[in-house]
Amino acid sequence: MGFARSEGSTVGWLQGRGIDHRLLRARTLRGIESGDISLEEACDANPELTRAASYFGVERQDACPVCGQASLVEVSFGFGRGLPREGQVIGGLFPARSLLQVSDLAIYVVEVCLSCRWNFLLCKLDRPDNVEAAD
Ligand SMILES: [Zn+2]
Repeated sequence: MGFARSEGSTVGWLQGRGIDHRLLRARTLRGIESGDISLEEACDANPELTRAASYFGVERQDACPVCGQASLVEVSFGFGRGLPREGQVIGGLFPARSLLQVSDLAIYVVEVCLSCRWNFLLCKLDRPDNVEAAD
């Protein structure tokens, strides 16, 4: 539970079908507010994720829902045959279009706060519709 099968999700530049975790995000944020979820648990972006987010993250217009700083970014990772097990960060030498040949491509979009290290998997999209047009 906590996620919805999405028929037409838009996250950042991505559009497509997949699993949208934004309901779970709202619930997690309520859990932080009520004290059921600790900040240590919620704000635990590891150094690799923080580094990927600071180099390749796309800035968000809204502030971090946890610390209120304007340091929220979205970073996307491609998964599929031929890609690293831990996912291929999208950006730099690996623009989205470079992943087009991956037949079973799935893209995971994570939001990361570069101030407090809040991080949350927003969605998993199965071969987004507009990946050809990206970048
Ligand atoms: Zn934050």
